[in-house]
Amino acid sequence: MTASAPAPDYAWIEQLPKVSLHDHLDGGVHPQTIVDIAAEIGHALPAQNADDLKAWFEDNANSRSLASYLETFKHTLAVMQRREDLVRIAGEHALELAFDGVLYGEVRWAPELHTAGGLSMEEAVEAVAEGFAQGAAMASQRLRKPVMVRQILCAMRQNNNSLAVAQLAVANRALGVVGFDIAGPEKEFSLQNHREALDYATQHFLPVTLHAGEAASLDSIQEAVIDGRALRLGHGVQITDDITITTLGEANPEAVTEDVDADQEVMKLGNLAAWIKDRQITLEICPCSNLQTDAAALLTDIGRLPLEQQKRARDYASHPVAMLYRSGFAVTISPDNRLMSSTSVTTEFIKLHENFGFDWPDFFQLTLNAVDGSFMPVDQKHSLRGILQDYYSTFAQAQEDLPEESA
Ligand SMILES: [Zn+2]
Repeated sequence: MTASAPAPDYAWIEQLPKVSLHDHLDGGVHPQTIVDIAAEIGHALPAQNADDLKAWFEDNANSRSLASYLETFKHTLAVMQRREDLVRIAGEHALELAFDGVLYGEVRWAPELHTAGGLSMEEAVEAVAEGFAQGAAMASQRLRKPVMVRQILCAMRQNNNSLAVAQLAVANRALGVVGFDIAGPEKEFSLQNHREALDYATQHFLPVTLHAGEAASLDSIQEAVIDGRALRLGHGVQITDDITITTLGEANPEAVTEDVDADQEVMKLGNLAAWIKDRQITLEICPCSNLQTDAAALLTDIGRLPLEQQKRARDYASHPVAMLYRSGFAVTISPDNRLMSSTSVTTEFIKLHENFGFDWPDFFQLTLNAVDGSFMPVDQKHSLRGILQDYYSTFAQAQEDLPEESA
């Protein structure tokens, strides 16, 4: 028996200042909170204690069945129908962001799914705002971890409430609502059903991010950025369908000289992928979640096989996140559903480090990308960039100051 190597110390990644842009409130409830509230309201759960419930959520989210995945949300939504429960869960979410090192987070949720207990959508928005304020105050006063939390209101693709949700979002900027999203079954329901809501948001200067390129491909992404005027894409990971891998000799024969290898591989972008990259439309990439829902194509198949023959990425190392980032797309990293995917921005960063060798300059860049793509006012972006710059300068200096052997 050999002694196992000590677990790597990732405290430095935990401590990095972060920004989270794609973070579902109903996907990040603490198991113990679900157990507590379910007991109070008489909601039957598939497991009776927090540990078993956490395992149940992970199993169902990992089952590769969309029905099982969606089943998990029934239980989180069931305990998010009373005002006091929304306040509690929003407060805990803000604290969770602070523990994750997040300085600024945009947390999304769908008010129309929180009215079963008699709350109006407006009352639900107020409750979530109150919870975020309480959680942020506790994080900064008790933990010395300041966090700013904002709301993105989602409408559901399969329902007909999108205009009311867009109006609610515009009317509640003072409560910290900064954006509008449309979530839900992407393949089955077109954004065309939500024209009025998308027009309303744009006409009232409310920034829009749309779930697209997660369960469907290029048509859906194009619809989101062209018709939906989305400034960001919720996932957008299927943009890889518009990428082909070819040789330099084929793509650009004039660049081939005696010293330049004609057979070296180059990436060729279709018009849509070039638009997304060149306009730096933010991709809210959530690798752990993508692996659970088969959202991402297998890295080694992308651009080399016809689309219908490309397999899906099933492990972190075959997710195209590093390829998209290194080829200049505006990639940002988010957890999507902290509970179902058992993840956080910290966890994603650790996996990026372990699987793709990402290091602090990459985490700095990914976080700057998230600041740029965020829906905060530009003056606030400027000051957050300053905070990040200071942190990373000090961090880089400390790396240089380390003695050689431990650096
Ligand atoms: Zn999402």
